[in-house]
Amino acid sequence: DRFNLQDFLTQIVDMFRLQADAKSIEFRFLPSGNLPIHVYGDEKRLRQVLINLLSNAIKWTHFGSVTLKVGYQNQVAEFSVIDTGIGIAERDLERIFIPFERVETAESSSIPGTGLGLAITKLLTEVMGGDIGVQSSLGNGSTFRVRLLLSAAQTPDRPAPAEKQIYGYEGATQTI
Ligand code: ATP
Ligand code: MG
Repeated sequence: DRFNLQDFLTQIVDMFRLQADAKSIEFRFLPSGNLPIHVYGDEKRLRQVLINLLSNAIKWTHFGSVTLKVGYQNQVAEFSVIDTGIGIAERDLERIFIPFERVETAESSSIPGTGLGLAITKLLTEVMGGDIGVQSSLGNGSTFRVRLLLSAAQTPDRPAPAEKQIYGYEGATQTI
């Protein structure tokens, strides 16, 4: 379905700016390229994907910043969620997308979670025909990147005042 990408992003940014403020983390929103106003895509699934990634970023970051970057090229949108949090060791990177898998460290063991967020995020991304990747460095932060086709939709001008037609008696039509 068609939705307003700019309104969609504004809502998400507003929501996570508050969560970042509450933890005294900086929240940055970096749109780049020529983002279309309206796109065709699965707004609900995309919202869930971004909420999961941004929630994780805030959850596993205690200092610094969480950044949402959005790029757009050739009808493909790229969303990057970048944090300066605890990071993930190379050996753990492949299992974090598996249901119920969590990384056990002294730092993370006190933070609750079921380990389902990323498994669901990967599934939703793939259902939308997109892909997800991660780069991370233990102690330095993580970047999760989602790419998917989001075709630009025409943004209609304000509806032109249509000629009003009054259907009169016996099929006679009058235009006013
Ligand atoms: P929930 O089901 O509530 O989302 P969760 O956040 O623990 O629980 P996932 O979102 O699936 O589960 O993430 C799996 C694991 O990957 C986390 O437990 C954490 O160890 C690691 N992880 C995910 N995102 C990050 C991140 N941004 N920085 C560091 N570690 C992360
Ligand atoms: Mg999670």
